[in-house]
Amino acid sequence: MKLFVCITVLFFTYSSDADWYEHSFDVMGTRAKVEFESDSKKLAAMLVKRVEDEMNRIDQLMSPFKETSELSKINTMAFSQPVEISREMFSLLEKSLEYSRFTSGAFDITFSSVGYLYDYRQHRMPSNSDKTRLKESINYRSISLNANQSSVRFLDKNTRIDLGGIAKGHAVDQCIGILLNHGIKNAFVNAGGDSRVIGKKQDRLWYIGIRHPRDEDKLIVNLPLEEVSISTSGDYERFFIKDNVRYHHIIDPKTGDSARHTQSVTILASNSVDADALSTSIFVMGVEDGMKLVNQMTSVSAIIIDQQGKMIISNDLTNAK
Ligand code: AMP
Ligand code: MG
Repeated sequence: MKLFVCITVLFFTYSSDADWYEHSFDVMGTRAKVEFESDSKKLAAMLVKRVEDEMNRIDQLMSPFKETSELSKINTMAFSQPVEISREMFSLLEKSLEYSRFTSGAFDITFSSVGYLYDYRQHRMPSNSDKTRLKESINYRSISLNANQSSVRFLDKNTRIDLGGIAKGHAVDQCIGILLNHGIKNAFVNAGGDSRVIGKKQDRLWYIGIRHPRDEDKLIVNLPLEEVSISTSGDYERFFIKDNVRYHHIIDPKTGDSARHTQSVTILASNSVDADALSTSIFVMGVEDGMKLVNQMTSVSAIIIDQQGKMIISNDLTNAK
């Protein structure tokens, strides 16, 4: 992974027989985009379709809102009996539990045991009594995985899971994998706050901006990037404000309420599944604990906008300045 913090001026003349292709579409409750260079129009058209199909496939599998998804089946049945699941679901659940342990429970897909009672569009939230009662069921230790049977079982009758903090990253990685398998060298794939770039954009680095958390028309920084994933978690994505309090979609597992230490967290990592899980985790952990964790990791960088709107960057970026 390379992050160029200073602006690099490149003196190349760009000449190639290849063309650039881009396509945007709606999936997983957000906007997705793919952009890449190919010397074959036919291959490009096939890949655009493959990428869109792949994101839709993952949505069908992992959406908490689709009754027929594998995730919904788990939520309905896994307390009464072990549910046999796909290898893909199994590995994502395993990865989620790894992150729960690594972040001392800040990342916890059972947040949904309370989280499902929030409806950000309808400005609805759980009553205090429901929150207090169901908060006890936010506990990743209630998820029991059996690798031999590729099955999952819940140990608590109120456990619910939601992969919203990691599934888009997984989808971006899958789509980059498809492009790489077909010989594509220069590409960008994005789903909501999760993006990954390979190669270059017309012999220059890719530029991805981090938006101002309180003004969608403003960028805080525009980062030149190469061979990296970048994920931003922000309290402006899905929220409502009631009595001057912002209720948004990232839940602190300790309280069952929205995490309010920061406005946004951006993570740079070598793949999107890690960047996605970490951006949600560090958002919950806040500046001090979050940066401490990031600074222990190699090849992971963070840019945090705290509750006062101040930007804090990880040690590797400070040293790169
Ligand atoms: P992101 O935008 O990637 O940070 O993901 C936000 C989504 O992650 C939310 O919409 C929820 O689906 C999910 N989520 C919220 N709180 C947590 C948490 N504490 N741990 C794991 N996932 C969470
Ligand atoms: Mg995330």
